[in-house]
Amino acid sequence: MKYVVCVPDGCADEPIRELGGRTPLEAAWMPNVAKLAMRGDIGRAQVIPDHLPAGSDVGNMSIFGYDPARYHTGRAPIEAAALGLKLQRDQVAYRCNLVTVGEDGTMLDFAGGHPSSQDAAEVIAALQAELGTDEVSFHPGVQYRHIVVAPADWADAECTPPHDLSDKPVVWPTGPAAPRLQELMDASRKVVSGFAGKASQVWLWGQGHQPDMPSFQETYGLRAGLVTAVDLVRGLGVLTGMAVAEVEGATGWYDTNYEGKRDAAIQGLRDGADLFVIHVEASDEAGHAGDLDQKIKALEAWDERIIGPLCEALDGMGPWRMLIVPDHATPVRLKTHTHDPVPYLLYCSTERGSGGEYDERGAAFEPIVPGHELMRRLVHQV
Ligand SMILES: [Zn+2]
Repeated sequence: MKYVVCVPDGCADEPIRELGGRTPLEAAWMPNVAKLAMRGDIGRAQVIPDHLPAGSDVGNMSIFGYDPARYHTGRAPIEAAALGLKLQRDQVAYRCNLVTVGEDGTMLDFAGGHPSSQDAAEVIAALQAELGTDEVSFHPGVQYRHIVVAPADWADAECTPPHDLSDKPVVWPTGPAAPRLQELMDASRKVVSGFAGKASQVWLWGQGHQPDMPSFQETYGLRAGLVTAVDLVRGLGVLTGMAVAEVEGATGWYDTNYEGKRDAAIQGLRDGADLFVIHVEASDEAGHAGDLDQKIKALEAWDERIIGPLCEALDGMGPWRMLIVPDHATPVRLKTHTHDPVPYLLYCSTERGSGGEYDERGAAFEPIVPGHELMRRLVHQV
């Protein structure tokens, strides 16, 4: 038996007036998904527990089959794992953004003018040289997104994500560890201002210790692979021992290489993986941009460029099962993630389900199941 998990990031939405009251999932032309839905089972899942932030880290952790209420410690350690950093028990990872704070204390840009990874790496290297110690270290990541590793007791602070402060007065950290964070952020100004970019300092947030996640193989008895362009999702793959495939042209944007991701999954399954996760970010980006047209296009690309040919390839490998589920909703009206339950589709090539339509309306009257239980249902362990 082969298993595939398809994650169209943030694709769930609300009824939209311009679509005659339909959602993007209802409006998109998805004949291949419709065929699976007719023979599969449709349901609703709570991928984001109420008390946790509605982030892709939490939602994808659920989808990977791990209860975020138990395993989620923060987003920084997941991104640290994506960079190949392994935290010790007495360490905490912080997300370290390069940001632009105005003279008047306004958060002008949570992305510090979007530096290239190369330019940013020079700034992070200078920060490490000037401010790094035996206990505190700076690690370069992608563009404006970096990591600071610090002693475990630095975790005891309330920090505001910089993207929640856009064009607002900054909110500095509070709590027992706040003075140390403040000192490091204040000291960063002198170093960062020595570079040509638009960033003015670092911003520390999203902290956590390394989550204690057992490997996927240990937990589910299956060898798993993953393809994604997003660090947070890649980090979850690293932490759970999935084989992470690299695909050229996987951008995390509308123009991503859909065929490349599909073929990486097919190849991975042919090479011995039992299960493969395909994650595509484009639908979430369209949600954040409030771009209805791109959101529908991203869903149609899934159907035509991934699902259709993938089903054909899977048929040639024997019996198979598929789960399609987003990691949260990103409604175009709100341009941000919500905690709403999301629709899922579970398909089995050898067993007929009760059938239906795969969209928010088709799932509206189904009972809500915890997102992390979907993996057990997919791999037939319930
Ligand atoms: Zn997401």
